[in-house]
Amino acid sequence: MKLNIILMGPPGAGKGTLAKRLIAKYNIPHISTGDMFRDAIKAGTKLGSLAKDYMARGDLVPDEVTIGIVNERLSKDDCSHGYLLDGFPRTIKQAEALKELTTNLKREVNLVINIIAEEDELIKRISGRRVCKSCGAPYHVVNMRPKKEGICDQCGGVLYQRPDDNEEALKVRLNHYYKDTKPLLDYYKKSGILADVNGMLGADSVLSLASKFIDEDN
Ligand code: ADP
Ligand code: ZN
Repeated sequence: MKLNIILMGPPGAGKGTLAKRLIAKYNIPHISTGDMFRDAIKAGTKLGSLAKDYMARGDLVPDEVTIGIVNERLSKDDCSHGYLLDGFPRTIKQAEALKELTTNLKREVNLVINIIAEEDELIKRISGRRVCKSCGAPYHVVNMRPKKEGICDQCGGVLYQRPDDNEEALKVRLNHYYKDTKPLLDYYKKSGILADVNGMLGADSVLSLASKFIDEDN
């Protein structure tokens, strides 16, 4: 099966939610640069202290840094039967670096799933979002409540609000999305591997639409 997949979409489109379901269904590693940075911050590593301020403002972490961690991760053996990239690439430079790396590794991307959602909805979702501190599973105070208040259904971890899930940082994140990341859609469309999914639908429908594209490709 060809399962070398990129997940794209603006902040709040539901990348994290879909990613968790896809990796369970297709049994491939989840490579989320956002999660990698958050883990590094939690662990107090050099990478974490480097990324922290950029993230809190909603700015992008410099390309060299981000490209470096993805190169390292994608080269590992567990990615030889597929991978799900989530939140990477976010700039043209990252996309070019990814192209070079995956060509060298013979792990070329065969599908880009693009989740589309309206901006009002993104803002609503992000402002009510809660995330598990241990496993990163996303929740929402109204739309996707955990069974037990403040506790992750999956792993029992504590739910918290991400420091960049505030109005000011979200504005910056959306701007980066429109200016730096959205142009990549054209790049992948030209290669004929872009698949749009309507992210305004419920999480189950989004999963079945995305799965259809993956299965059709195989
Ligand atoms: P979201 O998609 O909801 O904005 P992510 O968890 O993917 O959240 O990313 C959170 C933050 O991590 C970004 O705003 C940015 O600061 C940093 N980050 C994640 N991925 C990248 C990337 N590919 N390039 C640069 N910065 C990144
Ligand atoms: Zn959890």
